[in-house]
Amino acid sequence: MNKKCLALGAVCAIFIGCRVQAGTFRIDVSKVPEKAEWAEKELKPALEAYVLKVVELLDGKGAKWTRGEVVLTLDPKYEGVAEACSEKRHITLGMKFAAEFPHEVKGACVHEFAHVVQDYRSAPGRADPYKAPPSWLTEGISDWVRWCNYEGEAGLKGVYAMAKEKPKHNDSYRITAAFLDYVVRKYDRDLIVKLNKVCREGRYGEHIWKKFTGKSRRDLAEEWKQFLKNQVKVNP
Ligand SMILES: [Zn+2]
Repeated sequence: MNKKCLALGAVCAIFIGCRVQAGTFRIDVSKVPEKAEWAEKELKPALEAYVLKVVELLDGKGAKWTRGEVVLTLDPKYEGVAEACSEKRHITLGMKFAAEFPHEVKGACVHEFAHVVQDYRSAPGRADPYKAPPSWLTEGISDWVRWCNYEGEAGLKGVYAMAKEKPKHNDSYRITAAFLDYVVRKYDRDLIVKLNKVCREGRYGEHIWKKFTGKSRRDLAEEWKQFLKNQVKVNP
């Protein structure tokens, strides 16, 4: 990390109100050298300004990023949006997607970085036998980090609007993010940190919903559906 990038990171951090963990990302532009300047001056500082916030959202206040450098490869041949390998601390960003939806790039990278922090597949000290969390929850938590936090008020409104259209709490991604957001606000501000911990330790099970909120997942889902219905009535 050179001084120039540190300064850019600091400016960005002040701008979006986050702290900076400079040097977390290395962006591999070898397949798209024409993107080097954009990657270094814009993408990298924006992501590094949000590193500690993502870690805090998932691991709790004061948590630090201790796993070293994350390599983000810009891949012109990758057909999808983006993907993460938490074990290798590697993220692939599809440049076809980036060209088509440039305003989505940073948010998509935040979602993938959340997966790297989650590290449900390879974290040490996991329970034996390991109980994997369902993928809808893993994706819902990553999208909660992105849409209910990183993307600000507009992101939050967006996920609730989607959820009203399809109030299926385990639909994954944004709709599950809206469900989680509701439960966080109503029952436990530390819910995501607690969920993240049990998922990472391989101790996920239906009982955790009752343990953390006093209600079963089914009851929470029903209550959330009702909440969404009432919201539609208030704001048709
Ligand atoms: Zn994902």
